[in-house]
Amino acid sequence: MTPKEQYDALYERSVEEPDAFWLEQAQLVDWQRFPKQALQYEKPPFAYWYPDGQLNLCHNAVDRHLEARGNQTALIWVSTEVEREQRITYQALYRQVNEMAALLRNLGVGKGDRVLIYLPMIPETVVAMMATVRLGAVHSVVFGGFAAHSLASRIDDATPTVVMTADAGMRGGKVIPYKPLLDAALEHAQSARPQVVVVNRGLDPDLKMGEGDTDYHSAVAPLAGVEIPPEMVASSDPSYILYTSGTTGRPKGVQRDTGGHAVSMIASMKYIYGVGAGDVMFSGSDIGWVVGHSYIVYAPLLVGATTVVYEGIPIRPDPGIWWSMVEKYKVNCMFTSPTAIRVLKKSGPDYIKKYDFSSLRWLFLAGEPLDRQTHAWVSETLGKPVVDNYWQTETGWPILSNFAGLGLMETKFGSPCKPSLGYNIRLVDSQSGAQLGADVKGALMIQPPLPPGCMTTIYNNDDGFVETYFSRFDEPLYATFDYAMYDQDGYYFIMGRDDDVLTVAGYRMGTREIEEALCTHPAVAEAAVVGVKDEIKTQEVVAFVVLTGGLDNPGAESLRDVVSKEVGPIAKPRDLYVVSGVPKTRSGKVLRRAILAICEGRDPGDLPTIEDAAVLDVIREAVGTG
Ligand code: AMP
Repeated sequence: MTPKEQYDALYERSVEEPDAFWLEQAQLVDWQRFPKQALQYEKPPFAYWYPDGQLNLCHNAVDRHLEARGNQTALIWVSTEVEREQRITYQALYRQVNEMAALLRNLGVGKGDRVLIYLPMIPETVVAMMATVRLGAVHSVVFGGFAAHSLASRIDDATPTVVMTADAGMRGGKVIPYKPLLDAALEHAQSARPQVVVVNRGLDPDLKMGEGDTDYHSAVAPLAGVEIPPEMVASSDPSYILYTSGTTGRPKGVQRDTGGHAVSMIASMKYIYGVGAGDVMFSGSDIGWVVGHSYIVYAPLLVGATTVVYEGIPIRPDPGIWWSMVEKYKVNCMFTSPTAIRVLKKSGPDYIKKYDFSSLRWLFLAGEPLDRQTHAWVSETLGKPVVDNYWQTETGWPILSNFAGLGLMETKFGSPCKPSLGYNIRLVDSQSGAQLGADVKGALMIQPPLPPGCMTTIYNNDDGFVETYFSRFDEPLYATFDYAMYDQDGYYFIMGRDDDVLTVAGYRMGTREIEEALCTHPAVAEAAVVGVKDEIKTQEVVAFVVLTGGLDNPGAESLRDVVSKEVGPIAKPRDLYVVSGVPKTRSGKVLRRAILAICEGRDPGDLPTIEDAAVLDVIREAVGTG
């Protein structure tokens, strides 16, 4: 069978016979009690996968591998910030996880309790996640870059028994204290004060331990060799909460279950990422984001692979650092975001090309639309297949992807390919909700029940879950809030967020389409487009472009012409500014709302996820409101 035939057969089965299909996939997991039932769906849209199954995630990710691969490296930690490298075998990971689980238990953590993990990219972060789920408790990892009041709101929402932090993290050679931030957050927080555990890395000479704070290293020392049996939980018990990145609305605590999560992680490695036991995976992301949860931590460990955990930025000491790691650690599968590749693209291919990455099979990219230029540049530079995959914090694993594990199907530029297993995708008219055919843009919805691994609810807010995701139309479909199209061959194209849809003189278009058009010009490295209110046309297109280093400014008129040619004259930006950067979240998403606010003379408000707040001034200066 060709890869396409294999995909077609597998996908069809996953949606036509979901019960049989998902029970079969459940065999990939080691259960304490194997489920007899795949799905309980009595209270739509709440889906309970494997309702009678019992298991422990940490057992599956660690203990399960001890016999066959105890001496295999589970985790390679590389820090270009503190110039260190460490390899941890499954056996060593098992020991560390048990010790940390013992410590957490001594601090009162039991089944169902929350542990908030506010740590940098260090092995202890992975150990803390594993130790938490070993106890049947629920972790909430908060990205280390969040400021005190964002952290406080997450503490108040998750009400953790324990918060784990470090004295400091480092970014680009600068020490970033964590503990003072946590102290400030705890001052703000309204909920009961949690126990605080501090991993002291010796980076912050001014570290202040409060009364009752626990020093991690001294507290685990006497626990060496202690074994804590994994607490078996029901499949639908929560394993973690992860607050969404917040490009839209208030942060929501995405809650994931245990059994469906385990099955989806292993199945995605088998069919999509093509990674198995003994392979090496490197995801250039942060554990604080969903890609980190799924493809730095859970999926690689669940299948018995080796995961590379990297503390540092992709351009330091130079833009070749990731590729030197691919060579050194013989990485088989790499995963990062288009933004990261665009950053590397600015420095040219030579930094990458000098390394030997014959071990590398594929590069997966997700998190935002992958434009044709970036895609072509990176696949040419690497000489390897580049796989665009589309998903969200909410789903935890791909909604759309090519399936490397089955052999890749044809790639189409700009398309994350086809629906992933169990996803019943519905493309509907964004006004009427009527189902659309090929080649028409519409709202990308998913017919519930959502497949295993997807969010089961918003933490402590079942009503909010239904209200936020399932109430867009009369028919209760899950809203991705993305705007998409599929072609005659069933390939999907993501056109941007629903809320990034522009209406210019009655024409609807995605900001993303215009950005893509601008990026087809060789002089444009990056573009951000917003729709500024206009009395006559409803909205006017305003564009910001970052130029490719070393090339001449082609001038606004020729860039407008590109848009006119690619999208249509109606999409021509009224104003076009050349800027040195556009504001983005730390996970690489353009903060269009903030740009729009500045363009309309409003305050962009609080932006806890912003990568570099100084870039807002670049926009202000450009539009003259600074
Ligand atoms: P997050 O939950 O922060 O990971 O953001 C998820 C959103 O990122 C999706 O709803 C899309 O808007 C966008 N996204 C993720 N992956 C892709 C992709 N491959 N192509 C286009 N957009 C993507």
